[in-house]
Amino acid sequence: MWNEIKSNIFSALVYFREFILFLVLVVVIIFLLIEKLSLSLPLILLLLIVGIIILNLIGRRRIKEIDEIKNIISLIRQSKYQSSDEIVLTKHLSALENEIKEMFEKAKSDIEYLERLQRMRSQFLGNVSHELRTPIFSIQGYLETLLNGAIDDSKVNKHFLQKANQNTVNLSNLLNDLIDISMIESGEMRMSYRYFDINIFIQSIISEFVPMAEEKNIKLIFNPVKEGLQVFGDKDKLRQVFVNLLQNAIKYTDEGRIEILLDEEKKFVNISLKDTGIGIPEEDLNRVFERFYRVDKARSRAVGGTGLGLAIVKHIIEAHNSKIIVQSKQGEGSTFSFKLKK
Ligand code: ADP
Repeated sequence: MWNEIKSNIFSALVYFREFILFLVLVVVIIFLLIEKLSLSLPLILLLLIVGIIILNLIGRRRIKEIDEIKNIISLIRQSKYQSSDEIVLTKHLSALENEIKEMFEKAKSDIEYLERLQRMRSQFLGNVSHELRTPIFSIQGYLETLLNGAIDDSKVNKHFLQKANQNTVNLSNLLNDLIDISMIESGEMRMSYRYFDINIFIQSIISEFVPMAEEKNIKLIFNPVKEGLQVFGDKDKLRQVFVNLLQNAIKYTDEGRIEILLDEEKKFVNISLKDTGIGIPEEDLNRVFERFYRVDKARSRAVGGTGLGLAIVKHIIEAHNSKIIVQSKQGEGSTFSFKLKK
């Protein structure tokens, strides 16, 4: 008991200065009221004892409050709370209770965010391994077959080598896209915005794609609007957007045409790439911008797709404070569009 009183008083010593001030004040008043020393001395003694009792009570209460707070913190540390509503302190500590609740909510959402990130990272790693395995296994298979004798079979040897080669191309596409996406997602993508002539820009990209489109008998159409029309953006990154969208349009179109349309608005230029290809089923429309999402995996791989092209497009367009929109009808074609600032 004596030890308890000692620790109570020790805990109340934070108020020691106020306590001494109060004592001095009361002693002075006693001296002024009772001039006789013999009478005032017992009173002062009594006052001292009362003071110590009060200090003991204050200290006890303080220890109780600190224990209550310590207990709450320890329960938070042990993840015993599901929601901040379960955190309750005595009434006069309600301001502190609110602070602890806010801290709890913040920590909870930070942890959830980190867990989500961790899940996404593992999923991404799983996808990457899977994507790498497919072409590597194919190359291995073709090379082993050739080494086991097929190399001398003039009917298949060239074909197997071509297949192995196509898989190395797929592998290299995948690695390039992976480098791009990891640069973008780690925030290392440096943007360099300036004004440039959109008509000249699109024409130069189209001229590179004409042979690829002609090979499949697809018409590439672009009618420039308003000579000298300038848009604001990162030319190199936008080049990648057009390349990815045009490559897709050609990959997923068997016949017909691909059209690039410009529509000048007050503050923006709306750009659309329209194809007459296989189209995208309605239930997949929202998902084609996800990393590694493909409507038809086999078809995508057969045409050298990585499943990352549209994810890269989305990131770049969003870095331009814009949004990529897709409209499509299965069997009729797809239109990808976005706006750029004038
Ligand atoms: P991929 O490398 O597989 O083409 P993308 O991220 O570029 O990956 O596209 C994701 C998926 O969206 C494709 O696998 C394909 O199913 C679909 N897609 C993209 N562009 C088109 C298009 N123009 N027409 C039809 N389907 C498309």
